[in-house]
Amino acid sequence: MLSYFRKNIQNLQAYSSARDEFTGEAEVYLDANENPFENEVNRYPDPLQKELKNKLAKIKGVTASQILLGNGSDECIDLLIRSCCNPALDSILVLSPTYGMYKVSAVINDVGVVEIPLLESFEPDYRSITKSINENVKIIFFCSPNNPTGNRFNFENLITFIQNTRQLVVIDEAYIDFVEGHSMSSLLNQFPNLIILQTLSKAWGMASLRLGLLLAQAEFIAVLNKVKPPYNISGLTQQKVLDFLNESKMKEQVELIKKERDFLMDQLKNIKSVKQVFPSEANFILIKVNHADQLYKYLLNKKIIVRNRSNQFGCENCLRISIGTPSENKILLEELRNFN
Ligand SMILES: *Cc1c(COP(=O)(O)O)cnc(C)c1O
Repeated sequence: MLSYFRKNIQNLQAYSSARDEFTGEAEVYLDANENPFENEVNRYPDPLQKELKNKLAKIKGVTASQILLGNGSDECIDLLIRSCCNPALDSILVLSPTYGMYKVSAVINDVGVVEIPLLESFEPDYRSITKSINENVKIIFFCSPNNPTGNRFNFENLITFIQNTRQLVVIDEAYIDFVEGHSMSSLLNQFPNLIILQTLSKAWGMASLRLGLLLAQAEFIAVLNKVKPPYNISGLTQQKVLDFLNESKMKEQVELIKKERDFLMDQLKNIKSVKQVFPSEANFILIKVNHADQLYKYLLNKKIIVRNRSNQFGCENCLRISIGTPSENKILLEELRNFN
């Protein structure tokens, strides 16, 4: 397990914070140079977020020791790359078009990026991927359902690939709550090279709180715990998330969003300026239009913001539209119908 990490990380002596060294209940806390006057935020938070992880572990069907929490999954992505890839030597592999942060994080860390285009079906091109892997490619990122294409990759092919590769394989499941029952988290115990990313920013409705989950085998998480900043999740975030973690409410909203998505897809197919509506298993739809830049500006003028993805590889003239409330979606459709 240690061999997935850079040598300096393998040998790292973790910083031991005040709240690491003493974890019980005491009367008098004089160990962390805090201001002693109570105001609800004067104490350092739990560096390992135990209460929160216990609750998340139950929801996710994993153990608390298989969870690392980040300040959004973006922190998890950076932590992984920084811990496993040697600057100016190693690379990650990404499948374009996909979420942009993998590449940005790699570049920030002076780590190379091997980009393999998705097939026309938006499925991974496993032959090209396998051909491009060498010992310096340390992490392969799959985003499923993929942002911005919206499709989920074939499950069996993914498993076969994970089984047959020695590299770390990240499955970014930011949108997995929109496809119940398809998380790879039940396979964690089987594959030491499997890393799963999830987030509370999308279906769970907590983007502002910044909480991302990295799921992996406990031994792997233990090493990442040494690398992460000791207090990376604020006490307010931990508390608010505990307050807001309401699975039945999330599922209710997901059902609504999916219903709206399917309605929106149907409607979009009948709009003249829309050339193609790609299938989606997430809370957004990718559409191909005639003149994406023009349509984007037109909507902007109407105070409707969508994501212009037309500069991304394989997304020429494509816009990505998040599913809004029923009334927001109606406004969008109205304006799209007016455009020609
Ligand atoms: C939105 C998104 C994330 C980011 O999540 P945060 O937890 O908000 O940092 C990660 N991956 C993908 C694919 C996303 O679309």
